[in-house]
Amino acid sequence: MLEKVLIANRGEIALRILRACRELGVRTVAVHSSADRDLKHVRLADETVCIGPPSSADSYLNIPAIISAAEVTAADAIHPGYGFLSENADFAERVERSGFIFIGPRAETIRLMGDKVSAIRAMKEAGIPCVPGSDGPLDDDERRNLRLASEIGYPVIIKAAGGGGGRGMRVVHQEADLLGAISVTRNEARSAFGNATVYMEKFLGNPRHVEIQVLADSQGNAIHLGERDCSMQRRHQKVVEESPAPGITESQRREIGERCAEACQQIGYRGAGTFEFLYEDGNFYFIEMNTRIQVEHPVTEMVTGVDLVKEQLNIAAGEPLRYTQDSIRLRGHAIECRINAEDPDKFIPSPGRITQYHAPGGPGIRVDSHIYSGYTVPPYYDSMIGKLIAFGDDRASALARMRTALSEIVVEGIKTNVPLHRRILEDEQFQAGGTNIHYLEKKLGLK
Ligand code: ADP
Repeated sequence: MLEKVLIANRGEIALRILRACRELGVRTVAVHSSADRDLKHVRLADETVCIGPPSSADSYLNIPAIISAAEVTAADAIHPGYGFLSENADFAERVERSGFIFIGPRAETIRLMGDKVSAIRAMKEAGIPCVPGSDGPLDDDERRNLRLASEIGYPVIIKAAGGGGGRGMRVVHQEADLLGAISVTRNEARSAFGNATVYMEKFLGNPRHVEIQVLADSQGNAIHLGERDCSMQRRHQKVVEESPAPGITESQRREIGERCAEACQQIGYRGAGTFEFLYEDGNFYFIEMNTRIQVEHPVTEMVTGVDLVKEQLNIAAGEPLRYTQDSIRLRGHAIECRINAEDPDKFIPSPGRITQYHAPGGPGIRVDSHIYSGYTVPPYYDSMIGKLIAFGDDRASALARMRTALSEIVVEGIKTNVPLHRRILEDEQFQAGGTNIHYLEKKLGLK
């Protein structure tokens, strides 16, 4: 096993990683910005290193500072969590070159999947179904682009190859708007992601977002752990997730899951990963792969009983997978609500001091959060302050437990989106299951 892991992240995921390390008897190093001295995992870690000022660019994204911290503390591996440097191939490469284990896939894999154009190409070759589209980057040939769009059929979506976090996309409904949209998206992509490459896809009208969780080891074994439905989104950002996805049959799950596991073997994937699909009219269309642990991983853990973070650590230690495909069984249903420090109507971040916090509990309730009474949510980072996860024997009982938990939770001193989650849980269509990616925004009157 690994002996000492440096956690290159903050907030709930840093705490989640720390807990997995402790269970395995692995020592931990928490690196943090000067604004994050009071984070729960910083208090609990075996060693701590302040790596810079509040701004992420100077701390959680500061590669030399993180590598020096690993050297000073003699850590043997670095866990990047999600966000920050987790999908930065240069970081993975520098970690390994400095003699540490990067807890994630090889740098080449991150690079391949980090560019959505090359990812789609690799996945097509591996037999994964993709959205009909340009099959590569768009060039400046206006006539070709117009022809492509009319062949694909409007509406189309122009996407940045280097995009992420729901940014760098533009939907085009008619020919007159196409060329302008391509150039605007290209310019935005250049300044936001340092990569002006854009591509075109058919814009699916009413899809759901369904994704497959995989695990692969360095020995060439790969399995899938079923799917998650993340269709409740606002501005392409997930708000509520669940597993299994309502209405997906066992044979559909097996079919798409096995294809993903095989694709992992073909590209030599290592670690935990997610294949994201849009799902419409019974068909899956690959959109991208995330080469890291995801925010919504707990719902998969609840229904499979597999601790994904512990598996990441085992795989990084060079051990073979401890599960075969046949040993993975989905049981029950799990739902996750992302709790954000933000105004529930206007969605403006609401940092500040939490004067009172009461966590919900009871059977089937899991709270992944770093907050406590007296903790101050800093204004510098993502507004997510935790995740509430409810498990039940079936979807109805998971929903009932989530409703109860949402009625119990108290976070005072700052605004949170708990009222929004209460509204979603009361919504009849959501209760029925299978709503599409536009549903939440329509319900909120944003569309
Ligand atoms: P990001 O990396 O920014 O998360 P994705 O490619 O995963 O970008 O897309 C994020 C979301 O954008 C999807 O979950 C979906 O809501 C929407 N989206 C992306 N591509 C399409 C498409 N071809 N048709 C319809 N919606 C899309």
